[in-house]
Amino acid sequence: MTTTHASLSYLDPARPEPWASFIEQIDRVAPHLGKLSHWLETLKRPKRVLIVDVPIVRDDGSIAHYEGYRVQHNLSRGPGKGGVRFHPAVSLNEVMALSGWMTIKNAALGLPFGGAKGGIRIDPRAFSAAELERITRRYTSEIGIVIGPDKDIPAPDVGTSEQTMAWMMDTYSVNVGHTASGVVTGKPVALGGSLGRQEATGRGVFIAAREAGLRMNVPVTGARVVVQGFGNVGGVAARIFRENGAKVIALQDAEATLANPAGIDIPAALAHVAANGSLAGFDGAQPVSEDSFWRIDCEYFVPAALEGRVTPARARGLRTKILVEGANGPTTPAADDILRDRFILVIPDVLANAGGVTVSYFEWVQDFSSFFWTEDEINARLESIMVKAFDAIWRMAQERKVSIRTAAFIIACQRVLAAREQRGLYP
Ligand code: NAD
Repeated sequence: MTTTHASLSYLDPARPEPWASFIEQIDRVAPHLGKLSHWLETLKRPKRVLIVDVPIVRDDGSIAHYEGYRVQHNLSRGPGKGGVRFHPAVSLNEVMALSGWMTIKNAALGLPFGGAKGGIRIDPRAFSAAELERITRRYTSEIGIVIGPDKDIPAPDVGTSEQTMAWMMDTYSVNVGHTASGVVTGKPVALGGSLGRQEATGRGVFIAAREAGLRMNVPVTGARVVVQGFGNVGGVAARIFRENGAKVIALQDAEATLANPAGIDIPAALAHVAANGSLAGFDGAQPVSEDSFWRIDCEYFVPAALEGRVTPARARGLRTKILVEGANGPTTPAADDILRDRFILVIPDVLANAGGVTVSYFEWVQDFSSFFWTEDEINARLESIMVKAFDAIWRMAQERKVSIRTAAFIIACQRVLAAREQRGLYP
């Protein structure tokens, strides 16, 4: 039997994306799994879907309700792991796809986690800090029945931060009656967070790009880089590219699209965003049109904003050698095919942005052992895990003559489905 998004009654068949993209990526792996494909259906339906009502008293005394989610896509290899997103476009469908990509990412990197994700459909900029704290705490209490250091460990994603994680950790701890640092990762260091976590995703994006460049003869030093999304992932990746001798020639965030062929001063751009909330008004680069941004000549293009941004039309216009997916799910399957036909190498999200969850894994291990590592130790272990995973996935791609994405999915699905098979079905 073939399953599609439409056969899950709780999804709206009129709005299949991005879960449909995830299913299509899974289907592309089926021919490479041999007997394990018998279990593939497992990955086409999340294990658990929790929808919660999040009511709060607003600052003006009124009561407002928001919709929150926590989806545990697969727990075959360990507790759930994945971020929490606060964004007006959050939907059950989106959270499901993001949870599925977490299953694949954790398995592809060999981390002992399943995949999960959560979110609330709000625009965090529309609330005071006190309201955000109430929303976060109520949401944490509501999903408290499924999360925990041994069960499912949230982390930051778009629209959430260290502060959000501090509130989540405190709320969960108060509810269980003891301090449970390991319930979330991406916490402040003072609460059991890990050194190096905040910049781990961007650092991992750079490591993946550098490894691809080494194999493709596209050196990072002197390379021209375009980055879409200038937040936690894109901002750090841009900074590390520049520190390694690359020239970041264009940036885009939700409010501005800017280019400077001579290279943008990234520390100055980061300082501008820290002071003003966005790139709008930054005078170290010139405004360019959305259309021309996606056609800038470069060696590395890093989409690090949201999913579905690399559409078929944009894929036809892109003039890069390597596309490194900092965001989750930025490229649609149809766009992926166009990039392949145009010989643009795609380093997929499940590999390229896995640095964040890798250091989250270190944070979780440090919390359990109450023994904390130095930043150098963390960065060295991150480097070693990323390079090893990159190498194994690259070799699989060569061996099977498939894309890097399909190779990562093959390795991940082999691990998840072998675990499923060994555990068997209960009863
Ligand atoms: P963030 O909120 O820190 O930054 C998001 C950036 O994208 C901001 O600069 C924002 O202005 C920009 N943006 C939003 N909408 C946009 C639009 N329509 N056009 C252009 N830019 C837009 O989020 P983040 O943590 O950097 O996450 C970015 C992506 O990376 C997401 O897909 C997320 O799931 C993924 N990711 C994050 C982590 C992590 O550790 N934070 C780990 C793995 C993957």
